[in-house]
Amino acid sequence: MDNNLIDEIRKSVNIVDVISNYLPLSKKGKNYFGVCPFHDDHSPSMSVSEEKQIYTCFSCGASGNVFKFIQDYENVSFLEAVKKCADQSGISFSYGKEKRNNKNQDLLDIYEFASKLYQNNLHSSLGKEAREYLKSRSLDEDVIKEFQIGLALNEATMLADTLKKKYDDATLLKSGLISEGEYNIYDTYRNRIMFPLYDLSGNIVGYNGRIYNNNNINDSKYINSRETAIFKKGELLFNYHRAKEECRNYKFVIIVEGQIDAIRCYQAGYKNVVASLGTAITKEHAMLLRKLSNNIILCFDGDKAGEKATNSAIEELSKLGIEPKVVRLEDNLDPDEYILKYGASRFSEKINNPFNMMEYKEILLKRNIDLNNTKDLAEYTNLMIKEISKIEDEVLKEISINKLASETKLDIKFIKSKLEKPKEIKIEKINNKIKYSKYEKSEQGLIYYMLKSEKVIKIYEKKITHMPTDRYRKLAFKIDCFYKEKGYIDLADFLTYIHDDEESSGAVSEILRLDLKEDFDEEAILDYLNNIKRYNDKNLSNQYKKELKEEVSLEKKIELAKKALAYKIRSENNE
Ligand code: ATP
Ligand code: MN
Repeated sequence: MDNNLIDEIRKSVNIVDVISNYLPLSKKGKNYFGVCPFHDDHSPSMSVSEEKQIYTCFSCGASGNVFKFIQDYENVSFLEAVKKCADQSGISFSYGKEKRNNKNQDLLDIYEFASKLYQNNLHSSLGKEAREYLKSRSLDEDVIKEFQIGLALNEATMLADTLKKKYDDATLLKSGLISEGEYNIYDTYRNRIMFPLYDLSGNIVGYNGRIYNNNNINDSKYINSRETAIFKKGELLFNYHRAKEECRNYKFVIIVEGQIDAIRCYQAGYKNVVASLGTAITKEHAMLLRKLSNNIILCFDGDKAGEKATNSAIEELSKLGIEPKVVRLEDNLDPDEYILKYGASRFSEKINNPFNMMEYKEILLKRNIDLNNTKDLAEYTNLMIKEISKIEDEVLKEISINKLASETKLDIKFIKSKLEKPKEIKIEKINNKIKYSKYEKSEQGLIYYMLKSEKVIKIYEKKITHMPTDRYRKLAFKIDCFYKEKGYIDLADFLTYIHDDEESSGAVSEILRLDLKEDFDEEAILDYLNNIKRYNDKNLSNQYKKELKEEVSLEKKIELAKKALAYKIRSENNE
């Protein structure tokens, strides 16, 4: 790998521009600030430095250079992130297919293999009935192919027999596609249409199998393969990996409940769709949705359950400070049924005119309220005032106030006086819960300034024997190596240099988060050095004392006592 080229690619993009593609940043002083996408944040605690070309979140501690941001945001590898930047700048960069050093590689391979087998089955003569079923549900050939829909035949050990040759039983059972019988292992799925489920990068990590002929009327309609280290239903959204590109064009994301709903939307031209697979929206889901777009449209089933799902999704999203928009479908229909019944263009009309949060809440409120009843009217008015207070768009706010005024026959001025003042957004700076000792603080300070100045690196080279804390010692060593290799120090390039060393990257984050003073004076540096030395001397002295206790030879005892004393004096002289 050409490291100089990678540094050149990094310098060819501006981290502020790149991050702005993902989330809004606003300038405050020298730096830019945004809502951190890596934790459930709703105030702008992520700072992006144009000068240093790094980002740091003061709340969760996430930090890194532009590559790290893309890696974590898009869930891609380091080299893929480099490639994305290279593409943006028109620099040619290619890399061989990376060997995935994944301890779950066996599972991924099993799912991939199963996918081929299931798809094959569907297109074999035994798959005729299943093909007809899919046709009856108006799923086109090309979406069947795109979504890799397949079929588990009505056979007990078809998949097991093939996989047995390559994997041990334990691995197969772990995948959930194979189950354990009294005498042998057998296929979990029989006679079901198989929908692969993907992780965020598009690897198959599980399946959802649907019955399609009524042979087994007592079976549940869908069966999910079991959760594994790489498949957690609450942490993935169906179609995420396809939607993530699409959402950038459409500028919004639609979320539906079922995978058939998602596939139907996709077929109707809305490729910016994801599905929660029937589970309630979790915090992780909410954070994923936020990554896709800050314009989220909830389009759950039209029934009572869908309304409940809508309300709980609103709640989960509001914890992240997001107000989604809502589409409600008539006649208890789900999006699949709706599009089939009324056509894609009527669905489009719905999607193009979703309820905003206030309109939706108004509908819910009015349903159980009689506006001719004074008490109900008051309750309604109070709740509406609370909702209107939250509106940021000034025009929308004015319209809503006018509407409420005419509805309630209250004075506009009166309503305005009752509106809550918008809360001022403060940057949350988390007080570090970890208390560092004096010598740790000295190590951190020293490293912080080593990352800024070659002068400090040189002082470190000359003066320090070693840092007491493991991770800091390794980090300082790496900084020194970087400097010797390159002849300069640059934080963003150094982060590239240690990108595959999690411990050191973590230690850098830890230090950046402390938000130390920009500039240093040499006196402070010397102070750090002394603290570290004193600690080392004290440690050595104690070590000799310990050895002394265990030593039997008098001669050696005296030797050790001398040493212990010498280091003790040295550490005290340094006080
Ligand atoms: P279809 O149109 O094929 O009947 P649907 O999407 O309308 O499917 P729902 O009953 O609304 O089906 O369920 C929504 C989603 O929840 C499904 O797409 C599926 O992913 C998931 N699901 C439903 N039932 C189960 C189940 N028993 N086990 C696991 N997941 C389920
Ligand atoms: Mn359905």
